[in-house]
Amino acid sequence: MKKIFVINSGSSSLKFQLISFPKEEVICKGIFERIGEESMDLTIKYKEKIKEVIDLSTHKEAIAYLLNKIVDMGIVSSLDEIKGVGHRVAHGGSAPKSQLIDDDVIEKINRLSIFAPSHNPVNLIGIKSFRDILADLPQVAVYDTSFHQTIKPEYYLYPLPYKYFTENKIRKYGFHGTSHKYITHILKEKEPKIKKIINCHLGNGASICAINNGKSVNTSMGFTPLAGLMMGTRTGDIDPAIVTYLMGLENATTEQIDNILYKKSGFLGVSGVSNDVRNVIEAADEGNERAEIAIKMFINRVAQTIATYIIDLEGIDAVIFTAGIGENSSKIRKMVCERLTVLGVEIDENKNNQNAEWIHSSKSRVNIGVIATNEELMIAKDVVALIND
Ligand code: ADP
Repeated sequence: MKKIFVINSGSSSLKFQLISFPKEEVICKGIFERIGEESMDLTIKYKEKIKEVIDLSTHKEAIAYLLNKIVDMGIVSSLDEIKGVGHRVAHGGSAPKSQLIDDDVIEKINRLSIFAPSHNPVNLIGIKSFRDILADLPQVAVYDTSFHQTIKPEYYLYPLPYKYFTENKIRKYGFHGTSHKYITHILKEKEPKIKKIINCHLGNGASICAINNGKSVNTSMGFTPLAGLMMGTRTGDIDPAIVTYLMGLENATTEQIDNILYKKSGFLGVSGVSNDVRNVIEAADEGNERAEIAIKMFINRVAQTIATYIIDLEGIDAVIFTAGIGENSSKIRKMVCERLTVLGVEIDENKNNQNAEWIHSSKSRVNIGVIATNEELMIAKDVVALIND
């Protein structure tokens, strides 16, 4: 049996899972939160859920603590049982696949930090921390961008002067690739006849991907994960001139503008209630108009993107909803599908309310599915494939 660690480090958090192969079972999982403050919170689930406050403050200390903890708790009898680590890395540039980490890969992830300043540097800290503690352990970088390397230039180029593409590599990269790839694999196993898929990954971060025959054709995130749909706290696509106008209006630095676009906008910015769609729906149900508009704006974007991607795919076999909102909110799914009635989409209300795997009615011209995403498993599978090579 192989035990594989999956690490997803964010700016102030670090999520982890230990997964066993070949059974693909989660042995334990958890999250460190409030990293960077004086103490951090650890939640770890192994048989039961345990919460701790620990007097440590860095990602590296969190990883060292975690490795001791899993031995102390008897989750592994020794660290030798761990055969590899997979790191979710936001930006992999033009890498079409996951890579075994060596000095060159570290250097490349570092270079790409200019494109993903709030993700790549912190992903690197996770990688280096494991290297310091378990130098011989194979580590794999699994990039959010890789799955989208099949997108063609007419979709990935921006209508800017061409030199910004050739010299500065400004193009659409796309993100959430591991999730879109996972859904593609699941559907290939379960429903091999389904070839043209529009996968709606609707979480706090949200993106839609048009997939044909297992390959990404187009996706809604772009040069950065700010593009496309409206999200929990991110704008998604807006008129770019608003950005320069805001800079003048607020006399703001690029960091302050980034903060508005990434952290203060989306559901939170429009509704003034929350980034969490559950709270926004609750407020709308109680008559909060801004909350109601925020939901309608989100639905518009999702439905419009699906409609566009039907053209890009020259047809459609299935629309899939996944991630926090997609998997859990029958209300959002219903509202999106109602906007698609003109395309022959119809859902079965009962199936939708039960979060059933397929929620379309017998009359619907399009299959509509709900599939739970599992990025961690996809990452661990890539690790197993690469260390077995
Ligand atoms: P992340 O992008 O952080 O990985 P998730 O995929 O975990 O996000 O999605 C989290 C989001 O899912 C929450 O912020 C919330 O908006 C939404 N969500 C979860 N459950 C529901 C629900 N029952 N109804 C509506 N939204 C939900």
